[in-house]
Amino acid sequence: MAGELILIIEDNEKNRKLSRDVLEVSGYRTLETDTGEEGVRLAREHEPALVLLDIHLPGIDGIETFQRLRADPATAAIPVIAVTASAMPDDRARIKAVGFDRYLSKPINIKSFLETVGEVLGANGASP
Ligand code: MN
Repeated sequence: MAGELILIIEDNEKNRKLSRDVLEVSGYRTLETDTGEEGVRLAREHEPALVLLDIHLPGIDGIETFQRLRADPATAAIPVIAVTASAMPDDRARIKAVGFDRYLSKPINIKSFLETVGEVLGANGASP
């Protein structure tokens, strides 16, 4: 299993570390950044198998980051999972409307987090 490269875009250091640790223990490789702008750049440069994207970020937010990834042919096909603490109905509606592959709420449940990552990678035809 695993070995795929996953890009984590998250501005909270503790959340970023938790995602990184859980993924690396599970055999994935990770890249990380705390801004959407840098995330877009890293996605172009490294072509990760999956992006985990926080919605609330400094600078451009997760929605804008997602749209930039989708607008660029180099990154348009990379699956993106939205990760947010937001329980605001407006945010949920926006997240659904823009077409994220999946949605996870924080704090993450490690078991369902890994299941969702595995499902999205499997569905995208990624190979170990
Ligand atoms: Mn955040």
